[in-house]
Amino acid sequence: MITEIQQTAEVAGYLWEKGWAERNGGNITVNITESIDPDTKSLPPIAGPFPIGKTLPRLKGCFFYCKGTQKRMRDLARAPMANGSIIRICDDCSSYEIIAENPVKPTSELPSHLAVHDYLLSKGSPYRASLHTHPIELVALTHSRKWMEKDAATRMLWSMIPETKAFCPRGLGMVPYLLPSGVELAEATIKAIDDDYDVVMWEKHGVFAVDTDIMSAFDQVDVLNKAAQIYIAARNMGFEPDGMTDAQMQELTDVFGLPK
Ligand SMILES: [Zn+2]
Repeated sequence: MITEIQQTAEVAGYLWEKGWAERNGGNITVNITESIDPDTKSLPPIAGPFPIGKTLPRLKGCFFYCKGTQKRMRDLARAPMANGSIIRICDDCSSYEIIAENPVKPTSELPSHLAVHDYLLSKGSPYRASLHTHPIELVALTHSRKWMEKDAATRMLWSMIPETKAFCPRGLGMVPYLLPSGVELAEATIKAIDDDYDVVMWEKHGVFAVDTDIMSAFDQVDVLNKAAQIYIAARNMGFEPDGMTDAQMQELTDVFGLPK
């Protein structure tokens, strides 16, 4: 099995164990074009073509591994090819075929995930993986207007432990509530990524993260959620945590050459 698919199964298991993937919640798509061997590339489709609902010119001939629609992360962890599929984007850039192994229809979020991949390629980004999940403490933060202010949550989370800024150096972008699965949510997410965030928070819903591979996207969310847990633990002890100082955080940026 392709490494990216093994890695996706591993991450899907973590999402379930963390309580971030109830029922069929969450989505993963990985651009695996560079890992597909020539024999697989020329395989005839087992289903399709199906319309994407969008024309995405940079994805012509690209291959993606996608979680299947209505499939559970906990099932994908055990059986990735029964709960996800490999698709190929057709030459018209607006439809796809399923090429392996079972005709599992990809996530209903496919158009928005693919729009993000198309955007990443347009920017020459090395990012090939996108993750949507429901991390409990991060979602809880978005129920307060205070933390929805631009970079308010980023500053607080970075100040909880130094690793947060080191390993999620672009912070947490915020997208006000929009209907799940909609075109508007996809567009707002791309705008936030374009505003230089790898992890974007959807108010009262979940996160959307992009990175070079799915493990790295998961790690960024995991690091941020850990910081939120530390904040909540301090509040539960009855006090507002001090957080690291601005000078301490600036020192991290200088010493580690961080982008912000
Ligand atoms: Zn969701």
